[in-house]
Amino acid sequence: VSNVGWAGAYTTDGPVRITISSTDAGNQGVAAVEVLFHEALHGMIANLQRAISEECRKQNVRLPRHDLRHAVLFYTTGEFVRRHFSGYVPYAYRNGLWNRAWPMSIGPLERDWKPYRDGKGSFAAAVKTLVSDVGEPAR
Ligand SMILES: [Zn+2]
Repeated sequence: VSNVGWAGAYTTDGPVRITISSTDAGNQGVAAVEVLFHEALHGMIANLQRAISEECRKQNVRLPRHDLRHAVLFYTTGEFVRRHFSGYVPYAYRNGLWNRAWPMSIGPLERDWKPYRDGKGSFAAAVKTLVSDVGEPAR
């Protein structure tokens, strides 16, 4: 569609419907590929959210200022597009998201999630270490 508001795109679930602005300055060129993958991943993220919640319970930690699911989503889609388009700077870096919103997560994502994304280790092990690194003791 032409315009979808400040975010430039959104996805509803049940059923999954992706809406992307074709005129948003942030959705042009290769960035459009990242937006499309980002929104598509929103439709497939329930398993990750369940795993994060379960791991928080097991480790007795919480993620108070943190949308870990969304940070993983930004990281995964951004790095995927960067891998395929040389010189591309992912949305989260381009817009200062790692500094502004989730400074506590980029290190653990590089350390804990990237190896899984690169085909090393299991999903469960990646979620376990990620939650361990960003979680805070539950009260
Ligand atoms: Zn999103």
